[in-house]
Amino acid sequence: MESVAYAHLSRLLHKRLLEQRVPLEATFEVSRRCPLVCQHCYNNLPMHDHAARRRELSLDEYRRIFDEIAEAGTLWVLFTGGEILARADFLEIYTEAKQRGFLITLFTNGTLITPRIADYLAEWQPFAIEITLYGHTRTTYERMTRVPGSYDRCHRGIQLLLERKLPLKLKTVGTTITKDEIFAMRDFAESLGVPFKFDSMLNPRIDCSQAPLEVRLTPEEVIELDLRDPRRLPAWQDLNNRYQTAAMAPYVTNTVYDCGGGVGSFAVNPYGEMSICVLSQMDTYDLRQGSFRDGWEHFLRQVRLQQRTRPAKCAGCEIRPMCSGCAAVNELENGDKESAVDFHCRANHLRAYLLDIPLKPNPLCEYRPGSARYEDIQASVALLRARAAELGVTLPATSRRSLPVIQPSPAALVSAK
Ligand code: SF4
Ligand code: SF4
Repeated sequence: MESVAYAHLSRLLHKRLLEQRVPLEATFEVSRRCPLVCQHCYNNLPMHDHAARRRELSLDEYRRIFDEIAEAGTLWVLFTGGEILARADFLEIYTEAKQRGFLITLFTNGTLITPRIADYLAEWQPFAIEITLYGHTRTTYERMTRVPGSYDRCHRGIQLLLERKLPLKLKTVGTTITKDEIFAMRDFAESLGVPFKFDSMLNPRIDCSQAPLEVRLTPEEVIELDLRDPRRLPAWQDLNNRYQTAAMAPYVTNTVYDCGGGVGSFAVNPYGEMSICVLSQMDTYDLRQGSFRDGWEHFLRQVRLQQRTRPAKCAGCEIRPMCSGCAAVNELENGDKESAVDFHCRANHLRAYLLDIPLKPNPLCEYRPGSARYEDIQASVALLRARAAELGVTLPATSRRSLPVIQPSPAALVSAK
């Protein structure tokens, strides 16, 4: 009952305040250092990287930034890393944020949680704590993290939080290493009575290394995981149906970015650079040199209003709300914000065809009716439908609505959104 009321309130606030471009949600990467060396990670640095530590924001700098964002209307704050507890003074940063009344979520791998930290969080409760599991078995977990002993430390952290009845959630990331244990991790979370979720969308590292992609699943494997949890496909469909662009209208017409980043949310990296989100690294504003208000009102507004320089298939895409691709992801993988990443595009089209969402022809998109890879993707869809039947998953009936193969001009597609 409570969570429904909260979700409703949150939606209302977002809808109303997005129109006014209030920076409701902040993400602070407090450190990129981490005691783990996970194979899929996009930004971890060694725990004892002293040069990185010296560059991190000081507690006084956080105080100033928190004051400024509270005044600007920020309500939700997410602390992430790297590993948040890599900062020995993380609880002091956290306390400063708590004192300003933010609703705080903590992302952690759980391995550095001690009884003292758990006690403190029990006294000064966050809104949520999310721990990422890297495997159900010790072997898989430590193959991902490449640190012996990390499995036991993570489970001790989970136990410490559960004993204090803290608002814990568990999650994992689908990779070639973890994929066979995802549902065992879900069952483990359910046995503890805590929510669980997973995501399989990996990106290159922000230092441009492509190493994480070595453990990325294929688009077909990603969608098969969706099929194996009967709640996921309807949830994707619901997301696609619910997405409202009206509040963001001035910020989506032919813009490179088409999400809430820079409209209702922003991110600050460990070194005080503010951007649209943690993945967007090209356009940053230095909060050490200027005020939050100036960065938000002028710099990020301009970033958010950047216009596309050429026709793009994403501009008119009616399944964009379900897509994990976006300008920041394009920038990381293709070095070009306007060039869509094939992995995300193919995964999303597979999902859409399985959900029987009617798709308009689009000469810029290989996966649309009449385009180069349409037959190829339909072969994958047929295999996935067969797999769904094996798993006993009911998909929306194939309607065979035949869409007219009218090829719109690229210019029309760009201005369609
Ligand atoms: S990751 Fe992409 S969709 Fe998400 S906030 Fe960043 S730019 Fe927007
Ligand atoms: S599905 Fe493809 S065309 Fe649509 S938004 Fe995603 S990357 Fe762009």
